[in-house]
Amino acid sequence: PAERVGDQSASIWTEFAALAVENKAVNLGQGFPDGSAPKFVTDILKKISEKPEMVDGHQYTRGYGHPKLVETLAKWYSYLYEVAVNASDDILITVGAYHALYYAFLAWINEGDEVIIIEPAFDCYGPQIKFAGGVPVLVLMKLPEGADRACDFQIDFLELEAKINTKTKMIVINNPHNPTGKLFSYSELQRIANLAKKYKLIVVADEVYEFHVENTFNVQGVWKMEMVRFASLPGMYERTISIGSAGKIFSVTGWKLGWAIAPKKLLAPLKAIHQNCASSCSTPTQLAVAEALEYEFPKYLFRPFKSYLAYKLPKEICKKCRKMSEMLKKADFTPIWPDAGFFMLADYSKIKNFPNFKESIQEESEAESDEPEPQVEVEDPADLMFARWLCREKKIAVIPLTAFYSTNEDKHANDKMIRVCFFKKDETLNKAMKVLDKLS
Ligand code: PMP
Ligand code: GLN
Repeated sequence: PAERVGDQSASIWTEFAALAVENKAVNLGQGFPDGSAPKFVTDILKKISEKPEMVDGHQYTRGYGHPKLVETLAKWYSYLYEVAVNASDDILITVGAYHALYYAFLAWINEGDEVIIIEPAFDCYGPQIKFAGGVPVLVLMKLPEGADRACDFQIDFLELEAKINTKTKMIVINNPHNPTGKLFSYSELQRIANLAKKYKLIVVADEVYEFHVENTFNVQGVWKMEMVRFASLPGMYERTISIGSAGKIFSVTGWKLGWAIAPKKLLAPLKAIHQNCASSCSTPTQLAVAEALEYEFPKYLFRPFKSYLAYKLPKEICKKCRKMSEMLKKADFTPIWPDAGFFMLADYSKIKNFPNFKESIQEESEAESDEPEPQVEVEDPADLMFARWLCREKKIAVIPLTAFYSTNEDKHANDKMIRVCFFKKDETLNKAMKVLDKLS
């Protein structure tokens, strides 16, 4: 294979999706809602599918995005960023947020350019930057000893500034943050904005969980959380590539439709790549998302209690978050309360049934004794061992936190937590509760 491919081992998503199926485990791993998708959204798609004669619903559409979708997105984001977003120049529709991210790196990174990533970080950033010839530069976000809220994860801004040099081209921020559930505050974002301006950096703002935020989400209820979109900060639209996902917004992750939004000059090279790599995205899903967004817009603005994005979605998430936190506490985990999104970290150090490192290795070797060279997972961090054990032995799938760190050193220093997805139907959460109850 080409050198740029690098590590060919299965990603954490591939491994744990298969492990969950193999072990018939309750799946709290990969982040997707397993309940019904919102009916108003699937009804729209149904209506489109029932009109085969509709050329703008079933044939190739405009390459950079269906005209109706870019029109409505321009309206939404002009409102959300308080900037005039141009429908035909500033929006590119992609195969999920994944491709929007990849295009951003391919379009702007030259061989050897450095890109700052704040770890723990969504695991595709590093490999995508490397595919583009770039060098990921890591800044760690740290949770102080004993802290149990995602908002306590802190960036050391002096360290961040110290890592910027003449080769630094870009910084990636993910807000709300996967996997921690942190929502960055206005002042934290403003500090990043100041650095972006000072050093002329491009900011890739991955905001796929932008609507999974409830203002009173925090259990302590003392402070108000607010989603601040990076492109809405003064002067930042000009240097930001914002990334969104219809799959996330409308709880239809399998639709794999996303977008990159940026001023014309910043977006043009992404479009150049897209037109030769995908050419255009699935038409019926684009049209359905466009109509769903149009339907939502007046509700979001004027009748929020009727709105899926302003009310129903965050409310539902919030309820499930509380339930998951209680379940985990009862089972002797220490959950880290998230500000937003649909993931929660939890410390598993108090789970006594987990066999220690040596025992797990021995079990693995015995189980695979008929193979000539048993794969002993000595190098694997403890949380990965714990997550594999939890799935195989206790039938519950979660994701180890170390999947979101890229160096072995950082993995081993942060191997005491798992990430659970709580956007699951009550039946799944109840099944999980039964398993967790028997754990300690
Ligand atoms: N960014 C983050 C932070 C994510 O968690 C995900 C996973 N959905 C993506 C991007 C990719 O989203 P999509 O499914 O739209 O490609
Ligand atoms: N973004 C989702 C998560 O973090 C799914 C990632 C994936 O399946 N590749 O769980």
